Amino acid sequence: MTPTALVVGASIAGISSAYWLHRAGYSVTVVERAPALRDGGYKVDVRGAALEVISRMGLLDEVRALRTDVRSGTVVDATGRRVASMDGDTFGGRTHGDAELLRGDLTRLLHRHTADDVEYRFGEALTALPEGYDLIVGADGLHSATRALAFGPEADYVHDLGYRIAIATVPNHLGLDREEVTYVGPGRTTLVYSTAGDATAKAMFLYEGDERDLRAAYADQGWEVPRLLDGVDRADDVYSDALCQVKMDGWHRGPVVLVGDAAWCASPASGQGTSLALVGAYVLGAELAAGHGPEAYERRMRPFVERNQALGPANIKRMVLHSPGQVRTSMRMLAVMDRLPFKEWMLGKVMQPLHRAANAIELPAR
Ligand SMILES: Cc1cc2nc3c(=O)[nH]c(=O)nc-3n(C[C@H](O)[C@H](O)[C@H](O)COP(=O)(O)OP(=O)(O)OC[C@H]3O[C@@H](n4cnc5c(N)ncnc54)[C@H](O)[C@@H]3O)c2cc1C
Repeated sequence: MTPTALVVGASIAGISSAYWLHRAGYSVTVVERAPALRDGGYKVDVRGAALEVISRMGLLDEVRALRTDVRSGTVVDATGRRVASMDGDTFGGRTHGDAELLRGDLTRLLHRHTADDVEYRFGEALTALPEGYDLIVGADGLHSATRALAFGPEADYVHDLGYRIAIATVPNHLGLDREEVTYVGPGRTTLVYSTAGDATAKAMFLYEGDERDLRAAYADQGWEVPRLLDGVDRADDVYSDALCQVKMDGWHRGPVVLVGDAAWCASPASGQGTSLALVGAYVLGAELAAGHGPEAYERRMRPFVERNQALGPANIKRMVLHSPGQVRTSMRMLAVMDRLPFKEWMLGKVMQPLHRAANAIELPAR
């Protein structure tokens, strides 16, 4: 008899789990709480082992075609004066063909790739664990209901890093063309970028503390922040959450197995949430197809997850600087670095731990 799987959540982890479980011989149903595919969010990176997974899905060319093509990253001060610039890939920590694309573009691509083989039920939230499935995959993100139902309350597993993130589509009033601009104020970092062929821009706010009201959190900020906040007020795709990590001793219990942020959220500061979700879905499908249990998936994923999770707290301290003194020192160092002929090489060195972590897994055979 054909085994059945219920996947909870139609985002990166859920859709790619559905793909690999279908390939492993399961009849797959996906339930998603939202009424339609959620395609908001900033740009995300597909790095290291995740690129190989995308290739095994036969999607490498399409992922490359969707690349944001952001060509430069510039850091500015409160008056908008340029402090330093780098090429886009160095700025984003990408090497060896790593691809950056809009989260929404990737979600839509994965969904299209599975729509004929998987039953999607939008507007349906998991509120209790159903009977009758051989496997229930909780891919419902940081605030996973599947995790709460099978393993216990969120507070036991979710660790707040002490920062918040907000992301929205805003008017491109700066006239940016495939470039990203970052302004760093004490405890408050603001980024905005545009991609080729898109008349709008995306703004991201990363800040210390737990203030949910963005205007209150950014009340005294310089640069273009007030106009960006006006844009956020009018946006219909605001994504906002605390920066958290999920830490669990085990990811499966009975028929339930967790994948993606539900299991191991590394936080957006790790830069690896999407790649971890893609790799996790693949490893789960491949181990089950090979006749192994979910413990084989856990064994293979755990060291990879832990290594990538470690990037989150380290990166956020570099991205959000606590005091005015730290901001001044950091801006001075960046300005010096900007004048060095080998600045791209230096930044490449800083990014090496990210690259090594992104490749720190041996993928099982298909
Ligand atoms: C709208 C949105 C924007 C994002 N933007 C960024 C970003 O800009 N940068 C970044 O680093 N990360 C972003 N993330 C997080 C990023 O997608 C994940 O870190 C990574 O891709 C792993 O995703 P995931 O599939 O495990 O979880 P998620 O992407 O969080 O997806 C979980 C899915 O489960 C659904 N869901 C939740 N509860 C239920 C339920 N009870 N029943 C059914 N469905 C449920 C949600 O609606 C969602 O579609 C965003 C997530 C979302 C949902």
